[in-house]
Amino acid sequence: MDYLPLFHDVRGRRCLVVGGGEIALRKVRPLLEAGGRVLIVAPQVCQALETMAEAGDIQLVRRAFHPNDLTGAVLVICATDDSRVNEDASRWCRERNIPVNVVDNPALCSVIFPSIIDRSPVQIAISTGGSAPVLARLLRGKIESLIPAGFGKLAALANRFRPRVKQAIEGENGRRKFWEQVFEGRIAEAVFSGNEAEAEDLLERALANQNPVNQGEVYLVGGGPGDPDLLTFRALRLMQRADIVLYDRLVSKEVLNLVRRDAERIYVGKTAGDHPVTQGNINRKLVEYARQGHRVLRLKGGDPFIFGRGGEEIEHLAEHNIAFQVVPGITAASGCASYAGIPLTHRDYAQSVRFITGHRKGDQLSLDWRQLAAPGQTLVFYMGLNSLPTISEQLMAHGLSSEMPAALIEKGTTASQRVVIGTLANLPQKVEDRKIRAPTLIIVGGVVSLHDKLNWFKGENRD
Ligand code: SAH
Repeated sequence: MDYLPLFHDVRGRRCLVVGGGEIALRKVRPLLEAGGRVLIVAPQVCQALETMAEAGDIQLVRRAFHPNDLTGAVLVICATDDSRVNEDASRWCRERNIPVNVVDNPALCSVIFPSIIDRSPVQIAISTGGSAPVLARLLRGKIESLIPAGFGKLAALANRFRPRVKQAIEGENGRRKFWEQVFEGRIAEAVFSGNEAEAEDLLERALANQNPVNQGEVYLVGGGPGDPDLLTFRALRLMQRADIVLYDRLVSKEVLNLVRRDAERIYVGKTAGDHPVTQGNINRKLVEYARQGHRVLRLKGGDPFIFGRGGEEIEHLAEHNIAFQVVPGITAASGCASYAGIPLTHRDYAQSVRFITGHRKGDQLSLDWRQLAAPGQTLVFYMGLNSLPTISEQLMAHGLSSEMPAALIEKGTTASQRVVIGTLANLPQKVEDRKIRAPTLIIVGGVVSLHDKLNWFKGENRD
């Protein structure tokens, strides 16, 4: 080990910063956050530090640094561009055994700053011993995405209940098990999803019978349109926690691969010729698994609340008193539009956008065509591949120009994405010629003309 990692209590103690530029400013912020009393010594200081001094947040001495300034300091940061000053400061501090950090000069430092992930009171510090700070920052980004924002709140909650848990549960082993179950289960999830009152309530009940409430719950999660990079942090975290996954046809293989390896996977989608699992059956299964105490992931393509019947599923859960949470996903319209370079709204073309289902009930596609043909809007049709000829005919019959730009996006956001661009009049024929397969999304409106200029995503299947 090159350094001994420690956390330094600087509350109410003097932290001396030598130098008054932007770099000094960057160091002042964490010192103040940790409650340090900051003294700056520098002939000149930047505007932001000036303002902080006026507000009384820091103390400012406008002159060159002198060894007497070290008196009473528990930490010294040196952030000047004068190597003589930096070297002197480092030497004087070492002679007096005061921890010193010279910015960007590990050789002159006795202490170095880590990259910090702050979920106070939980803190994670990363260091590469000064050898590759950029690497530490990248690593920090990765860890930031894994640790829920509510992690600090969970620690604070645990701290509030600690004395009572100690009283109620005998033996260190018993307490450890209790806390492990709290941190892994529904109580933690309640905190992370912003429901602290419920978490406290559950913790009270757990204390009363000395066992955390380990009834199962359901996570209704949007898996996005295909590209796994488009998942939210929360979706990924819950995917890694689930015991059982019920997933649809639209969930991409790449997304499914990110589910916890030993979770049981149950396919509940429909494929032509197969006997589809009915919605009633899915609803019943969700309740049954949760009642058995499982963490059930209901993983859907796109966003669960957009043409996803997510609402019906959680209605059923609510009626049966099963805990659930909903995680939004990127819906196909957003995903396909972005990856095809077609902004859904644009000041010159569209002031509103409509998401429409092109799914036919029997032979009928009954939509309010007059409204859909109104100017200044973008139309996005989900499930519209088979109805494309009807959509095109009806929109023209109700007044949209046959030259109105229209696009069809096949397997949007995936490596096999294909985009077919045409007009209302010729898109159906173009699509038929290219032997397009579901899932596809249709976009109609002036914004489609921007595709030529804004088309940035190069899948494998370029036309
Ligand atoms: N809940 C989903 C939509 C489910 S309806 C969402 O928010 O995206 C299914 C329809 O979504 C498909 O028929 C298709 O129109 C569209 N769709 C989903 N993923 C798609 C993709 N990767 N590319 C193109 N269309 C997609």
